[in-house]
Amino acid sequence: MQLFTAVLATETNTFSPICIDRRAFEASLYAAPGEHPATPTLCSAPLTVGRRVCAEKGWTLIEGTATWADPAGLINKATYEGLRDEILDQLRAAMPVDGVVLGLHGAMVADGYLDPEGDFLGRVREIVGPDILVCAELDPHSHLTAKRVEATDFFVVFKEFPHTDFVDRAEDLWRIAVDTLEGKIKPVMSVFDCKMIDVFPTSREPMRSFVDGLHKLEEEDDDILSLSVIHGFMAGDVPEMGTKMIAVTNGVPEKGAQLARMLGLQLFANRGCHMMEQLTVDAAVSQAMVSAAGPVVIADMWDNPGGGTAGDATIILAELLKRGADGVAVGTIWDPIAVQICFAAGAGAEIPLRFGAKSAPGTGDPIDGRVRIVKLQRNAEMRFGESYAPFGDAAYIRLNGIDVILNSVRAQSFDPSLFSVMGIDPVQQKILVIKSTNHFHASFSKIAAEILYCSAGTPYPNSPAQTPYRHVRRDIWPMMETPHGTEAV
Ligand SMILES: [Zn+2]
Repeated sequence: MQLFTAVLATETNTFSPICIDRRAFEASLYAAPGEHPATPTLCSAPLTVGRRVCAEKGWTLIEGTATWADPAGLINKATYEGLRDEILDQLRAAMPVDGVVLGLHGAMVADGYLDPEGDFLGRVREIVGPDILVCAELDPHSHLTAKRVEATDFFVVFKEFPHTDFVDRAEDLWRIAVDTLEGKIKPVMSVFDCKMIDVFPTSREPMRSFVDGLHKLEEEDDDILSLSVIHGFMAGDVPEMGTKMIAVTNGVPEKGAQLARMLGLQLFANRGCHMMEQLTVDAAVSQAMVSAAGPVVIADMWDNPGGGTAGDATIILAELLKRGADGVAVGTIWDPIAVQICFAAGAGAEIPLRFGAKSAPGTGDPIDGRVRIVKLQRNAEMRFGESYAPFGDAAYIRLNGIDVILNSVRAQSFDPSLFSVMGIDPVQQKILVIKSTNHFHASFSKIAAEILYCSAGTPYPNSPAQTPYRHVRRDIWPMMETPHGTEAV
């Protein structure tokens, strides 16, 4: 057997001012064929798992380019076309192949392309023909367009949010691919359109039990090869944005369709109840400041660079400064200009500095003050599960008793190690302010006395009924109340 694998992934917040080109892919992850490290990042697990599986089977795995850009705004047109064509050329050169196993994210939008993955998968299908296996792993924060479903035999999607299971799902993807190539199964994909958009953290109910239920169904019923929820990504203004339920069965599409519908309507019945409670800035800061135990984590949940925002909002910090809070560490605020100034001044210097809130409206005002530069770190990295996430050259500054980490590569606050690598002991702080919607939960919950989700300003289009979409369909909840008619609850 000869298989081809490649990775092409990012998540596009079409409302973000941070447009990206090829440099953004190169800065996050760009591996030429054969050069991907042994450790996977979020969307490249199909490649690393594929190496192991094919080595065990004695099969040939031909690697194409593997690239991922951290979530941001629109992708430059020539950049998307260039990366796409690079991989398609590699696939052509690898032909004939018995299967194509891809690592995608599923929420790319490029200038001129509202469905880049549909375009890409369609071209892959054209090259390999109708009978060759094409499958991919996806992030649930993606758009499942008809074009993608048409071009692909099956998808496996991360079940967990935070995405702690991207390697496990790549194992599922490969197990189904191997069994298919060995003639043991015939996977068919059934999709149900939930006609809704919501946010579905699996760290809490009702989604925790729902995902546990999916695993149970997969284990108990031999007809079911894989069950996945496409959560949808509300910051992507594309026509087919929304929540979908996928059932991959062993040759029983009607059963798959029934199951996908039943499960999809369960999600619909719980619409609006999946999200965690959100506090105002005033409430979050008040609650954190009176807490006896530390550290209290305040998640600036909507200024999440992992959702494509700049990550430079200052609203929570400004409130803490106003109230004279101490024992506070903020990680991170993205400001490459301020970082450059801090490096020029040097560690130990005390300088006037303006930082933060320069990129987008709804993120507060830049902070001005006389800051002390405590520590500078080139190419800083934090842990993210089994791998590392870079946050670039970083400066640890102190202003009025509050510690702030300024970073130059936008990064979601995945892990408390972002503080420790800068010389701040996170456990000794009373309050930690971080930028993340929910990915932080897996690691920060281990050290936090309390976690507060704070909705501060409007850095992200988090209210779909009010968001000024140009392309998104209007026949989904919450834009309309009864998209399934009155039959569904
Ligand atoms: Zn995601």
